[in-house]
Amino acid sequence: MTNAIAKNVDEDDLADRVIAAMRMHSSPSYPRAFEVWYAHLSGAVPALSTELQHVLVGGGSVGATVIDGLYNRYMGSEHFAQKASRTSSQILDEIATLTHQINEALDASERYHGEISALSEQGPASADRPMLRKWVETLVLATRTEVASKTKLELQLRDSAREIRNLRDALETTRIEAQTDALTGLANRRHFEETLQQCFEVATSDGIPLTLVIADVDYFKRFNDDHGHATGDQVLRLVAHTMTEHMVDRAVITRFGGEEFAIILPDTNLNDGKLYAEAVRQALLKRELIKRSTNEKLGRITISSGVAAYKLGDTPTSLIERADQALLAAKRTGRNRTVTQDAIIR
Ligand code: GH3
Ligand code: MG
Ligand code: MG
Repeated sequence: MTNAIAKNVDEDDLADRVIAAMRMHSSPSYPRAFEVWYAHLSGAVPALSTELQHVLVGGGSVGATVIDGLYNRYMGSEHFAQKASRTSSQILDEIATLTHQINEALDASERYHGEISALSEQGPASADRPMLRKWVETLVLATRTEVASKTKLELQLRDSAREIRNLRDALETTRIEAQTDALTGLANRRHFEETLQQCFEVATSDGIPLTLVIADVDYFKRFNDDHGHATGDQVLRLVAHTMTEHMVDRAVITRFGGEEFAIILPDTNLNDGKLYAEAVRQALLKRELIKRSTNEKLGRITISSGVAAYKLGDTPTSLIERADQALLAAKRTGRNRTVTQDAIIR
């Protein structure tokens, strides 16, 4: 089966510019640094660009401190936390405005009732026509003011409700963004850690099985060197897609970091975990990668996986370690294979 990798000329061009800029400014070259330069040169995050330009114009060096600072402020978890906190305070402001409007309307209503009772108690000053007319006019005016105030409040309530709904949606979007890996669309490391912790609680209290797969792309550095970082990115998307295609019930597929993926399989035993990892490995193995723009054959990519299942006394860390040990064994024994915890000699 042949599966072409979409390759966008602009994206390639951008990747070249990213690499050139990083070289020119002696930037560190870990994945976060790539993300920051990508964000800058693609213009995706204008505020980040402004701040980075400032450093560049000032002749400052772009070291790890600058990169990490920019990442945290504009792309990382701190950025999302700030975004969420801004939206939350907008919601609180909106609620404060709403409360003020309701209080004003209640005051107006109280005034109206006061006026009406006073008017009805007093009655018209005399029964002659002009006096009666004046009395009725005052009554009508007070009622009109009350109706206008209620109508205004209704419109304000409707506006506020809409605004709060929009802010709540924005908060939800930020929450999802903060848990999502931008490149692959999978859940990110943070979400992985939260989910594993939750699954652990269930496994420990209810004795339900829990299996963890850690998969790593083989010789990926060489693939990047041979075909470019942008094509490498496409491969990571393809791996993510293949894992999702083979997804089993309730699996949580996450990007663990770089070219590593961690799949949490609740209510799944070691053997079924191995079957999942093998299904993904076989599916990737069948795909011949072809660059869409040039028809160039890129060969096949393979993955190695380590599989570990929850045991009494495990912690999330010990389970991850065991899956990692199994992954290392898979690498050591030739790659392109799945190794379970049972195969590790202790
Ligand atoms: P092994 O078979 O032992 O896993 O070898 P490897 O080359 O895959 O492993 P190594 O840890 O030496 O290199 C990992 C490479 O993955 C290096 C790094 O550039 C690449 N990488 C990490 N994150 C990304 C990314 O987001 N995009 C791309 N294109 N490459 C990435
Ligand atoms: Mg690798
Ligand atoms: Mg790796």
